Amino acid sequence: MSGFKVAKRDIAKLYLKTQCDNIENTGDIIDKDFLKGGGFKLETPGLLFPFRKMPQNHPDSLKNAKYDSYNYHYNEKNAATFAYGRRSKKTKKIVRLHAARDLYYDVNEPIYAIADGIVKRVAFFYYDTWVIEIEHEYEAKIAKIKGHKMLVRYGEVKKGSAILVKEGEKVTRGQKIGEIGLLNPYVRQPYPDKRGMLHIEMYTGEGSGNLSDKSIKYSDMLYATSKKNKGITFQRRKDLFDPLDLLNEMIKTSKKENWIE
Ligand SMILES: [Zn+2]
Repeated sequence: MSGFKVAKRDIAKLYLKTQCDNIENTGDIIDKDFLKGGGFKLETPGLLFPFRKMPQNHPDSLKNAKYDSYNYHYNEKNAATFAYGRRSKKTKKIVRLHAARDLYYDVNEPIYAIADGIVKRVAFFYYDTWVIEIEHEYEAKIAKIKGHKMLVRYGEVKKGSAILVKEGEKVTRGQKIGEIGLLNPYVRQPYPDKRGMLHIEMYTGEGSGNLSDKSIKYSDMLYATSKKNKGITFQRRKDLFDPLDLLNEMIKTSKKENWIE
């Protein structure tokens, strides 16, 4: 075993294997008492929050009172919320629904992987910002069909050397992957602030193909719905879901681990 790296998680697995190897008769049954008395505990760590600071538009940590208008906890109420209706500049009609929750931060704020995983795509997103898509070693509880890995789209990240991961690369929980970018032309929400945000989209992994897809109808969606704009497309893959509950859980986990003060 010399020169062989073993992660903490793997030690638990190896220990379990050793215990089982001691059972001489292959017909022996491993019962509940064996698992209870085994002196080990197998635990999957919860998801980390992608930042070490609270967002400027979280209700408990608003940068100032104006940021309440961009509080990402609301329901379809502002540009930072899930399923908020986006209007066409020409016709002023709602043409698509926002597929993310937007977490407001200053430009250059480091972004971290929320779990172990594999980078699936690094590409231009829009308005001078990029996107990092990671398949994580995590099963979304909401998924109807079990056995899929959750996919997370980290959007509006800073381009160039600020992106620290490549397609096909493995990432570990808590690894820095990039930084907050600035949209160009920038948006001043709330005025006069000129800052960035993480546009975070989550998918159960039950779908396949590109995450952005204009051909997907509202009725195709497995989980994403709207109260105000039923029938309008998200232009996203059918396994998209509202990340709010999971983001809240991630903040709790991250505070417990002193990842966020
Ligand atoms: Zn967004």
